Amino acid sequence: MRIGFIGLGIMGRPMALNLLRGGHHLTVWARRLESMQPLLDAGASGADSPAALAAETELVISMVADAPDVEQVMLGENGVASGGRSGLVAVDMSTIRPSAARAIAGRLLAGGIDFLDAPVSGGEVGAIAGTLSIMVGGSSAAFDTAQSAFACMGRNIVHVGDSGAGQVAKAANQIVTGVGVLTVAEALNFAARSGVDPARVREALLGGFAYSRILENHGQRMLDRNFKPGFKSWMHQKDMNIVMQSAHELGLCLPVAAATAQMFNAMVGSGLGEEDSIAILKLLERLSGGEG
Ligand code: NAP
Repeated sequence: MRIGFIGLGIMGRPMALNLLRGGHHLTVWARRLESMQPLLDAGASGADSPAALAAETELVISMVADAPDVEQVMLGENGVASGGRSGLVAVDMSTIRPSAARAIAGRLLAGGIDFLDAPVSGGEVGAIAGTLSIMVGGSSAAFDTAQSAFACMGRNIVHVGDSGAGQVAKAANQIVTGVGVLTVAEALNFAARSGVDPARVREALLGGFAYSRILENHGQRMLDRNFKPGFKSWMHQKDMNIVMQSAHELGLCLPVAAATAQMFNAMVGSGLGEEDSIAILKLLERLSGGEG
């Protein structure tokens, strides 16, 4: 299939490489040439703009940052909408607000372009291994068109529901992972400040009800003090903001997510935004009078 890919950062680059490995004809666009180069070296073609990329492909995928970025590459000047033919399927795999995804879908559909929201979970490791969880919202026809591409990038691929449903699932995912990374950091900091080896505590907890992949993977990286992103803290702040904005739109009470969102605000405010979200441990240490 002829696929176009827009946004070649930590996640987008390995996802695009997996599409190439899967035998698809890939055209890429990124706003910086150095981001495109690894894909061009691997055999992809380059386009001058999202519009040019859309003109020569059947399926366009974006993996950028937030809703304004998706709007820009899909609907802005030289965006996908201005180059794509009727019948094109556009898929955004970034994490954005569900209501924004629905609005973008409506505007693209007016030009005959079907749109899926298909955010992912699994991190850089899952993107490289092609084992992402992909949560999809939109029409069944568009989902069928995108299936062979999804199969190259992910393992657990769920058509959750209509437009926006994928982003609702992802926001729910970020409630669990945001709260999870904070509680693991709290537990390890609690152990250390109690004078007990946090590595031994983690080992003990892994065998019981406190087990989670976050305790296993992120917990180990916290112990190693490996704060290289991964998943940047400002991205997790963005995601908790999506959760809180959606809760506001719906009049929902999400007390634990709200407290976690404040911690991610504080991470960005204290200069930790470009570090991995597990650097929330550093913030807790600072707030507790520790090394940070
Ligand atoms: P990243 O490394 O910062 O990559 C984002 C890429 O999008 C960058 O290459 C950036 O270009 C490009 N971009 C952003 N805005 C753009 C715009 N307006 N026009 C053109 N290009 C634009 O971030 P990432 O970690 O890959 O995350 C991408 C998305 O996946 C986010 O929505 C994030 O929440 C989600 N996500 C990330 C993870 C993770 O573990 N990293 C996991 C699941 C979901 P430049 O290089 O020029 O800045």
